[in-house]
Amino acid sequence: MANQEKVYDLVIVGAGPAGLSAAVNAAARNLDFVILGSDPRSPKLLQAPEINNYLGYVNISGKELSDKFFNHIQKLDIDYREQRVDNIYDQGDRFSLLMGDETITAHSLILAVGVSNEQTLPGEEELVGQGVSYCATCDGPLYRGKTVAGLVHTDEGVEDIIYLSDIAEQVYIVTDRELDDNIVKKVEIIDKEPVRVTGENKVEGLKFEDDSMIEVEGVFVFRRVTPPDKLMSGLETEDDHLKVNRSMATSKEGVFAAGDCTGFPYQIGKAAGEGQIAALSAASYIQKKR
Ligand SMILES: Cc1cc2nc3c(=O)[nH]c(=O)nc-3n(C[C@H](O)[C@H](O)[C@H](O)COP(=O)(O)OP(=O)(O)OC[C@H]3O[C@@H](n4cnc5c(N)ncnc54)[C@H](O)[C@@H]3O)c2cc1C
Repeated sequence: MANQEKVYDLVIVGAGPAGLSAAVNAAARNLDFVILGSDPRSPKLLQAPEINNYLGYVNISGKELSDKFFNHIQKLDIDYREQRVDNIYDQGDRFSLLMGDETITAHSLILAVGVSNEQTLPGEEELVGQGVSYCATCDGPLYRGKTVAGLVHTDEGVEDIIYLSDIAEQVYIVTDRELDDNIVKKVEIIDKEPVRVTGENKVEGLKFEDDSMIEVEGVFVFRRVTPPDKLMSGLETEDDHLKVNRSMATSKEGVFAAGDCTGFPYQIGKAAGEGQIAALSAASYIQKKR
């Protein structure tokens, strides 16, 4: 409850090299902040077998470097929480971040969410807000008594599907997660690759690789990484990345971004450097607001 009342100076979303570097620098500038990450570590960094281009380390594994990054933020007593942000709302003078049924509020944000390897489906982008949703808590109530499909690649997404199955008349699920018997009873599992969200101006169905179709009014998509412009509406993009200036400011005042989500090259050094700049820019933004 206390969290709901509090307004942080800054919330950092994403705990890869960009977010962690932002956190170290936000701590140095004495900001009142929290860093949220949906995985205990950056899956990308953990997959790197051998890193040779990060200054100060030769032939270090991604796991070792990740341990060093985490030791650093633990030594500084940084408030890190393993939580996934579902949606971010601009409230004018502050931002609300929704995580399940918890909300955190902040005066500024750093988005350091990386990039997704998964492609969006044809039809998906065009129908966002018209039946395509990335947040069951936000949009679930709109589908009371209706038929929806869930494309689920996260554990949080499985939980959201349980919630949806209590609201909607029928829930189809396409997933790579293991489901327990409780859920299986409530939903219909489809073991086919979806290839398109169909409908004009509103979702009408989901089409599969074998040309079969199901009729649905909503499609809920839960990927490991939600593209940042879907996490928060109104952010300008350029070549599929968040558009930022040299201060790492996005098109929205008070929102900064860093790392892979701002563009190429996808590299640890660039992510860490941008995280630093974003934190310093957020600090001067907060200073001016005080
Ligand atoms: C196999 C492999 C090898 C690589 N080797 C090298 C190398 O040798 N040298 C090099 O420089 N780079 C290498 N890279 C690239 C490097 O790992 C990335 O450039 C770097 O991790 C990007 O950091 P980031 O912080 O921007 O994003 P990420 O590391 O992707 O971190 C983003 C974090 O944000 C979290 N997140 C996303 N959405 C949300 C949300 N809604 N709520 C909360 N948290 C969220 C994610 O779970 C993730 O933990 C390699 C990558 C791979 C895959």
